[in-house]
Amino acid sequence: MNAEIIAVGSELLTPEKVDTNSLYLTQHLNDLGIEVVAKCIIGDDRTRLTNEIRSSSSRSELVLLTGGLGPTEDDVTRDACAAALGLTQHFDPAIWNAIIERFSRFGRTPSENNRRQANVLAGAEVLANPNGTAPGLWLSPAPGRYVALLPGPPRELKPMVQDQILPRLRQLIPPSVIRTRWYRVAGIGESDLDSLIAPVYTQFTNPVTTILAAPGDVHIHFRARTDDEAEAERLLAAVADPIVALLGDRIYSSDGATLEQTVGRLLLAQHATLATAESITAGLLGGRITDTSGSSAYYAGGFQTYTDAMKTRLLGVDPALLAAHSAVSEPVALAMAQAARERTGATYALSLTGYAEGDQAGLCFAGLATPQHVHCRQLKLFGDRHRVRGLAVIQALDWLRKTLLHP
Ligand code: ATP
Repeated sequence: MNAEIIAVGSELLTPEKVDTNSLYLTQHLNDLGIEVVAKCIIGDDRTRLTNEIRSSSSRSELVLLTGGLGPTEDDVTRDACAAALGLTQHFDPAIWNAIIERFSRFGRTPSENNRRQANVLAGAEVLANPNGTAPGLWLSPAPGRYVALLPGPPRELKPMVQDQILPRLRQLIPPSVIRTRWYRVAGIGESDLDSLIAPVYTQFTNPVTTILAAPGDVHIHFRARTDDEAEAERLLAAVADPIVALLGDRIYSSDGATLEQTVGRLLLAQHATLATAESITAGLLGGRITDTSGSSAYYAGGFQTYTDAMKTRLLGVDPALLAAHSAVSEPVALAMAQAARERTGATYALSLTGYAEGDQAGLCFAGLATPQHVHCRQLKLFGDRHRVRGLAVIQALDWLRKTLLHP
């Protein structure tokens, strides 16, 4: 079954308001194995909405509309739906009584405008809305075709979807098994990753492969849908196993663990501890490590040394070294990591020093002190200040992860 979503409301076309309802709906439809093939936002414009409902309901089996069910003239969803599907509307006294009762609970009486919310499209089932005045509507304009009108406010929409839409959809789609796999990958950009794995996943339409990329961190999602559990696992393995082999240790998790959680698990498994010494990131690295609950079992602490003076005062970095090489240099990154390890007694220490802005923006040195050696890596990071600092943290964590994997 294919679905389309239409979010209705002129406020959703302003820079202030984001259409989150369609994301919520897409998640639940996908979980049922229903593909969302198109979605759009239409302002409070009866003609545009009528045209959109007409075309989407002729293209797709399921159309979900959210918003525009309110009491005012610019709430056009019911009228546009009636026009698009050639349906009449009738006033439903039971809905009107429920609206009066809801208002009276708040010591108010509804205005004449609210009567519009008691209008029902011919042939539609009414979906009760315990969290607001406008009920939803569910209709089947033709065999195998379904349209739902849902309220806009998320606190009204979500319970209606959970309690009244998903059960209806489960009955409509043939029973099927959906199996998913997630892999998280660091140390490779989205386009490099795609050129590496596209030759594999493009051969398969089931499972569906989705790649979600954030700077320095790519998530790969596979979703297989069949009517048999073993078959679903076989389909997943057919596409995922060769991709896992291609990506090797660039995959840092397959169970949803974040990069810092994976590093934490490796440290715990080796009864090892970690310290940090940060200049360019000024605590971001330590902050990220301690986002994970239980991190006190392996994170000793960190030195936030933004100025040269603090690098000397807190870490004992030799002023002559700073003068000779500058703070953003291999010798200083090495000295910071070494000192952080010695001063905390941690098994490992990571250091970061670099430029987030200016002519040399993105030049960064990471240091890693281990029980055997102190190493340094020069990083060349691209992007604005925020991105460079975020990437520095990810690359440092990923370097430590690989070191722990291959001691
Ligand atoms: P009401 O009866 O409250 O008027 P409605 O069904 O007419 O409900 P709208 O008036 O379109 O809904 O939207 C009401 C509020 O719900 C909006 O101001 C907005 O805050 C929120 N909302 C509407 N649509 C969405 C959406 N797609 N995503 C997130 N929030 C939304």
